[in-house]
Amino acid sequence: MGKMLAAVFHKGDKQGGDIKLEEVDIPQITKSDQVLVEIKACGMCGTDLKILEGGHPANDNTILGHEFAGIVRKVGESVQDLDIGDKVAADPNEKCGYCINCRRGLSSLCEYMASGTTFGIFQDGGFAKYCVLPRSALFKLPENIDLTAASLIEPLSCAVHCHNLADVKESDNVVIIGAGPMGLIIESVIRMHPIKRLICIEIDEWRGQKALELGADFLINPESQDVKSEIMRITNDAGVDVIIDAVGISQTFEMATKIWAAGARFICFGQDYRAEAKIKPNDIVRYQRKILGSYIGYAEDFLDAIELIANKKIDVDKLITKVIRLEDLLKTGFNLMKTRKCVKIITTP
Ligand SMILES: [Zn+2]
Ligand SMILES: [Zn+2]
Repeated sequence: MGKMLAAVFHKGDKQGGDIKLEEVDIPQITKSDQVLVEIKACGMCGTDLKILEGGHPANDNTILGHEFAGIVRKVGESVQDLDIGDKVAADPNEKCGYCINCRRGLSSLCEYMASGTTFGIFQDGGFAKYCVLPRSALFKLPENIDLTAASLIEPLSCAVHCHNLADVKESDNVVIIGAGPMGLIIESVIRMHPIKRLICIEIDEWRGQKALELGADFLINPESQDVKSEIMRITNDAGVDVIIDAVGISQTFEMATKIWAAGARFICFGQDYRAEAKIKPNDIVRYQRKILGSYIGYAEDFLDAIELIANKKIDVDKLITKVIRLEDLLKTGFNLMKTRKCVKIITTP
C-alpha cells in the first residue's frame, strides 16, 4: 500500500480546528460500485475556511476538498460505464436515494446530506493525490476538457441552478449582492444571457473591480453609497427585477427588500445559519414578489456546467486567480483566501 500527501482536517477542542499536510495511505476500493480517482485539480472554497474557523461542521481526521476533477485509475467490478483513463468530476454531495426528498425527486435536498455524507467535508475528499468515490458521485467528462477548469464544475453547477431559478429575462435589471467567488461565478453565468443591466453591490474594493471586469455595468459600495437611491438612479426608478443575495446575512436580506421592483424574484443563495431578518408580508402580496432559496446544484445543473466548461463558454481564466501545489495549500492558499484578493484558488497534487 503506497502513501500519498493529503490535507487532513483535525477538530480542535472547541469549534473549528486545524488542517495538516500528512502522508496517508492511498485509499483502496472496498465496494464493487467504487472508483479510484487520481485527482488532478481541487478548488479551495469558502466552506474550507469556514470549517477551520468553526462556522461549518466537518468530521475529524477527514481529507478536505470538495470541488475536484481527475482521472479514473481503477473501478469496482460492478462499474460498467467507466474505463481506466476516463476524465471525471465529482458531485461531492452523496444522496441517500430513499429519504422523502430523494423519493420526491428533490435529491439535492436529501435529508441525510446535512447529517454528514459530503466528500471533502464528512468523508475523504480532493486535497490528495487519490480519492475513492461511489460511481454515483461521478460525472464522466468529455475527453478534451481541461481538468483544472473542470474543478469549477461543482461551484458552477450551483450558479447554473441559481440562474435557472431566477428566471432572468432580457428586460430585467439584475443585482448581485456580494462579489465573493460564488457571486462572481453567478455573475459569469448571468452575463451569458441578454439582460437590461447588471449591478453589483460589494464592499471590498478588489472584489468590486473584479465584478466590473467580469461584466457588471455598475458597482455600488454600501459603505460609501446609499444603496436604494443609487439603484433608483441607475434603474430610472424601476427598482430591480432579480436580486441574488450571495452573502446571506440579515443586512443583505433587508437591503434586497428595499430595492425590489414589482414582480421581482429575490434569490437567497449565500448561507449564514445565524441570520434573521424582518419582512412585511404585504410587500410580497401587494406586488407579487417571489423569494426563492437556491441550494447547491442538481444533477442536471452539473450536466450544464460540464458543457459550459468543455465548450469554453465561461471565461475560466478570469475566475481562477492561482493554481498552486497541494504542498502550498496552507501557506499560499489559505493566506491568499484570507486577504480576499482572489476568486478561485486551485490545488494540484
Ligand atoms: Zn464549495
Ligand atoms: Zn435522501
